[in-house]
Amino acid sequence: MSLKDSTSGKLFDLAKEYMPGGVNSPVRAFKAVNRSPLFIKKAEGSKIFDADDNEYIDLICSWGALILGHSHPQVIGEVKKALDYGTSYGLSHEAEIKIAREITRAVPSIERVRMVNSGTEAVMSAIRLARGFTGKKKIIKFEGCYHGHFDPLLVKAGSGAMTLSMPDSKGVPPESIENTILLPYNDLDEFEKAVKKTDDISCVIVEPVAGNMGVIPPKDGFLQGMREITRDNDILLIFDEVITGFRLCYGGAQDYYKISPDITCLGKVIGGGFPVGAYGGRADIMEYIAPEGPVYQAGTLSGNPIALTAGLTTLELLKDGGVYENLRKNSKRLRDGIREIATEAGVDAFVSGAESMSCIFFTPDAIHDYKSAKKSDTKKYAAFFNKMLEEGILLPPSQFESLFISDAHTKEDIDTIIEATEKGFAEVKSIR
Ligand SMILES: *Cc1c(COP(=O)(O)O)cnc(C)c1O
Repeated sequence: MSLKDSTSGKLFDLAKEYMPGGVNSPVRAFKAVNRSPLFIKKAEGSKIFDADDNEYIDLICSWGALILGHSHPQVIGEVKKALDYGTSYGLSHEAEIKIAREITRAVPSIERVRMVNSGTEAVMSAIRLARGFTGKKKIIKFEGCYHGHFDPLLVKAGSGAMTLSMPDSKGVPPESIENTILLPYNDLDEFEKAVKKTDDISCVIVEPVAGNMGVIPPKDGFLQGMREITRDNDILLIFDEVITGFRLCYGGAQDYYKISPDITCLGKVIGGGFPVGAYGGRADIMEYIAPEGPVYQAGTLSGNPIALTAGLTTLELLKDGGVYENLRKNSKRLRDGIREIATEAGVDAFVSGAESMSCIFFTPDAIHDYKSAKKSDTKKYAAFFNKMLEEGILLPPSQFESLFISDAHTKEDIDTIIEATEKGFAEVKSIR
């Protein structure tokens, strides 16, 4: 069976006439899974519909942004109401206070927060702030962690870069990364050694659960050890919680693992499907930002009332914790189910995960860092992806992305996915 995809195909041809690669973000081109991209017409709950009217259970969920699923009626309802009051003021308004208050209450290490428009922008601003505050230049980053497309961090940056096998981007001058110290994820010894080598390290930035080289949870003691070492050496610890924030639990990875960073970057979930990012942290650090302090950062559309309404409504729906319980149950069911089928099928698969983030690596070995993640057989992933798509399951079109479920995914959806993996794994076996 092959999918009906003539309309998506036509749209892609047309898109390529006007847009580089026909897309606005590289992974959407589906290159890593050797097929042309889907063009989406609408999405609701756990389902997404393409231009050829194929229906899929969506496991991308806008790259983790849509923790409540697509078109949540309450989010849509509040957004519609907010639209009656205008689309953007470029000036202060009350919803900014509401979301800032909600974020600082949910994440106690964030005493002050600044809203921006994307995860990239949050990270870029946090790094500038860390350098401004400490007066030091160097930054530590881990291999396989992705922090958006900020020049100094575009080195071994996970998913996009990994899949297209371009560890570095052209256009990033070598000087841009000369202050970036690259270390293996989950290796505290290497971290400690690096810190001892120089006293010019301003900050370390880390995804507390890596979600851009597949899903790799931190080893016991990795985050804790980093917290202690950074504190002893006047280095700021930045948690990039653009994925994990309000996803692992309401307080994010820092609450989940009980580690308090100095600065946190947020994005994805807090926008409720709109372009929003945020960075926040200790009040004495955040006061370094203009207009209070000497570190400049600004944004024409920052704190946009429509985007914040979607974000705030999402947070309110997440607050009582019921969503997280549902996500936990369903993601455990999903991972257990997939592992069982893999064993039955005799396919070498390592199924990793943390709460509602999951990943299927095609390798017999455990994955704990970038090097081990790269051993996964991406040809097998591509075959798996395509078979699953035929079966009505939309996986992320790259081995090195997280698979996300939302609150809209039902137990029946999960069982449908598990059932489909039987066919998916059979396909993987056949390409051996
Ligand atoms: C998605 C992501 C970013 C970048 O966010 P954008 O909104 O795409 O700019 C940064 N860090 C992490 C961990 C991410 O997953």
